[in-house]
Amino acid sequence: MKQLPVIGQPDPVTDPGEVSAGARRTVVKIDGMDCASCATTLERVVRDIDGVERAVVNFAAARLDVHHGPAVDPAVIESAVERAGFEVHAPNVGPRVAWWRQRGVAAMLVAAIMFAAAFAGERIQPDLPWAVLFAVAIIVGGRSIFRSALVALRARYLDMNVLMAAATIGAAIIDEWPEAAAIVLLFSLGNTLQAHAVARTRAAVAQLGELTPDSVRVRRGAALVDQPVATVAAGDEVVVRPGERFAFDGIVTEGSTTVDESPITGESVPVEKASGDHVLSGSLNGTGAITMGVERIASESTLQRIVELVEQAQATKAPAELFVDRFARVYTPVVVLAAIAFMVIPPLIDGAWSTWAYRGLALLIIACPCSLVISTPVTVVSAIGAASRRGILVKGGEALETAGHLRALAIDKTGTLTEGRPTLVTAHALGDIDADASLRLAAAIEQHSEHPLAHAIVTAAGDTELPRAADVVAIPGRGATGTIADTEYLVGSPRLFAERGIELAETGTALLATLGERGETPVLLGTGTQLLAVFGLADTIRPDARHALDDLRRNGIEHVVMLTGDSEGAARRVADELGIDYRAGLLPEQKVDAVRELVATHGVVGMVGDGVNDAPALATASVSFAMGAAGSGVALEAADITLMADDLRSVAAATRLSRAARRVLRQNIVASIVFKGAFVLLAPFGLVTLWVAVAADLGTSLAVTANGLRLFRHR
Ligand code: ADP
Ligand code: MG
Repeated sequence: MKQLPVIGQPDPVTDPGEVSAGARRTVVKIDGMDCASCATTLERVVRDIDGVERAVVNFAAARLDVHHGPAVDPAVIESAVERAGFEVHAPNVGPRVAWWRQRGVAAMLVAAIMFAAAFAGERIQPDLPWAVLFAVAIIVGGRSIFRSALVALRARYLDMNVLMAAATIGAAIIDEWPEAAAIVLLFSLGNTLQAHAVARTRAAVAQLGELTPDSVRVRRGAALVDQPVATVAAGDEVVVRPGERFAFDGIVTEGSTTVDESPITGESVPVEKASGDHVLSGSLNGTGAITMGVERIASESTLQRIVELVEQAQATKAPAELFVDRFARVYTPVVVLAAIAFMVIPPLIDGAWSTWAYRGLALLIIACPCSLVISTPVTVVSAIGAASRRGILVKGGEALETAGHLRALAIDKTGTLTEGRPTLVTAHALGDIDADASLRLAAAIEQHSEHPLAHAIVTAAGDTELPRAADVVAIPGRGATGTIADTEYLVGSPRLFAERGIELAETGTALLATLGERGETPVLLGTGTQLLAVFGLADTIRPDARHALDDLRRNGIEHVVMLTGDSEGAARRVADELGIDYRAGLLPEQKVDAVRELVATHGVVGMVGDGVNDAPALATASVSFAMGAAGSGVALEAADITLMADDLRSVAAATRLSRAARRVLRQNIVASIVFKGAFVLLAPFGLVTLWVAVAADLGTSLAVTANGLRLFRHR
């Protein structure tokens, strides 16, 4: 016989890495998932399909992720979902069904009326066979519980439906009909309320993806053609009128307007957009009509990726959930065994079979870790949902918890503490060519680079025609090289020149010293043998940086260090003004070491960077933050927490939310365990009636759910 696993016991979830190379992935959104342990039941059902390698269901996110061999038809998975008693969610089905018209609610109301009638009738006419009416109420109101229990048993799993069904049948056998009906009614009421509350939070994120229009006006020659969004290709030109939502990421080609980007970045101040500026799908067009070039098709838009990332994140388990799993794995079987022992052993001595059966049934109900199981996913879903509404993409339960106890933060300088838009301040030519000519040479190479310093050089060179540079190679943390008219040139930091053994001569060294005193960042231009020019660039400190740092300190982050590849002088100017520590002249790998040192001294360390050239250091930190993802087109996947807005204060906001989430997780777990424990202790003395046991369970589940959902409205 196969061993019967017990509620809360985590299934041996195959690691995603173990999925075979040719595996396909199918994601099914599910309706009618109204209990947390149903998720595990469904996982088991789907895993039993031939060819399925991995199936993960998340109750709070209402989605099923399946990895399967190419031979498995997604329709087979969908029909398995339906046979297990759930519905496959059809997207965009119009307005949501009102709660009283949802599945099972009508049956519950009918059963409740029958229950009330039987309850009253029993008092008025005790001689009539009221048990029949109770029995009908049980069948009408408990149909879905019994059906789910059967599905669970067939999948060899003891879920809460099984426990409740067993308690109901047991109560009926010992002739406690009102109690049996009460179990069914209260349990379904609890499930309905909970499912409704969770669905609302879930919908708030999913709706984000459904905000965009269904059709857009595309420019076809001289005409404007109305076209469904799905048929628009990258490169098409789309006209967007005032008040419309952008369906695509793209670049403004004509006209100007203001755009409300708050659905994506959480930043409520509208942004001015004119020709050449990027617009993001999901944001709202303000006052002007514009024409935009479509950069990505709708299904690959930033908006869709955000929705997908948030859903994925909501489907992950927080460390607290693993604790709950471990606890439930011991708790449930112990209490179920105790229940059986109570039904059998004491009556062997005193012969009071029905008294002890009753007490045993109460324990069976208390054995359901319902409130405990629901407490963490609900909290994670609502915290991650709340964060995403503010443009903070938290990539999972673990990042959510860890960000709440950050002690130290490493911050990349450029673009986080400073504007990230340095400008050329000084240019000194040292060789045979003048400053303007050397600037054009540098710009010819730098136009191939994404580095902010490179942009500054290109901007400074202006609109003049630049020489053609070939074989341009970026050297991370140092600069770039390229060939112009058969000569190799280098642009970059003094370190690059030192490493290549290029003499700076006295004038060069003196120039660098002056730049250092003034806090300017030096960028050098040279050939393989000779220094040609020294440029001094300066970046302004963000006006809100000081405020953001204060905010971080108030949130328990006691130590902030600026890590930068920039020169000592430029770094010192910024750090002194902001009153923080700094480490300058760091190569990307030295930033990794610096983060590692911080982890050794402070424990939990965050790192804020731009997500591209700081990737190794970000990966070393306990929690990584990528900033300004919406504006710069930086990979959304780069960090544990991606901040869509280009605003350091979002880091403090994220830690604040994480701390609130941790608090709620703790409250919910403690409340569930204390409450359950109290009832376990009282039940053997006959102090807990069956319906009180169910009501207590229901009450706790609803309380922890409400407490978790509260986070969704966190400031
Ligand atoms: P950070 O992100 O901390 O500013 P980076 O690692 O990006 O540091 O760069 C370190 C230094 O390398 C810069 O301060 C600059 O001197 C030099 N550098 C890197 N890339 C370029 C480039 N494309 N052009 C000029 N200088 C560069
Ligand atoms: Mg950088």
